[in-house]
Amino acid sequence: MTGKTYIVEHLDEELGPWSELEYITIARESQETGSKFFLSSLHPQFKVPEALAAIPSFTAERRGVEELYADKKSRVCLLDPQGKSDLAPEDADNFDAFLFGGILGDDPPRDRTSELRAKGFEGRRLGPVQMTTDTAVRVTRLVVEGKTPLKDIPYVDFPELKFNEHESTEMPFRYVKTEDGKPIMPEGMVELIKKDADKGIDDML
Ligand code: SAM
Repeated sequence: MTGKTYIVEHLDEELGPWSELEYITIARESQETGSKFFLSSLHPQFKVPEALAAIPSFTAERRGVEELYADKKSRVCLLDPQGKSDLAPEDADNFDAFLFGGILGDDPPRDRTSELRAKGFEGRRLGPVQMTTDTAVRVTRLVVEGKTPLKDIPYVDFPELKFNEHESTEMPFRYVKTEDGKPIMPEGMVELIKKDADKGIDDML
């Protein structure tokens, strides 16, 4: 397996708890496959969580991707839900770095990836369904490092998370599926989603 570079250009002002869990997961998985993870375009006041900073594959970067790859822009592939073609294993030869929007998913999608598209990087799609950022990196890794075609990756779309007999929530995204049919999510994410759902209910009371 050849290590690649995964760049998430952080497009939000702050780092929310969801993004933090996603970024820790991307860093851990990059560490496992000998690849690198850059979180770029960070505001000078951005505080890198200790758990993230401690993972050797991870680099916090104030510069944006345009500056980082100024002389090798054509080697950067933007993972773009509106890309004209889908990512394929052969793209491992075409690109060294894979660029993602550091944005939380939204429903309906607001196309904030357009901010990166406007910079002129070549784009590839990961199929027609919106993924979370860590899922998009995981799928890209399976395709370019693991040489698995997109269509052979097992997915689960819009899974329902059941918290107890009465409470559940549907996630409006596509995830990679484990052998027992569960969506792969960052460690601690289900608990966080449940906490946020409980908070929402408390706010309504
Ligand atoms: N609603 C979003 C938007 O405003 O563009 C999608 C954000 S998605 C949660 C975060 C990033 O994951 C995107 O910027 C893109 O790089 C990548 N991504 C997610 N789903 C994708 C797909 N189906 N094809 C290509 N890239 C995808």
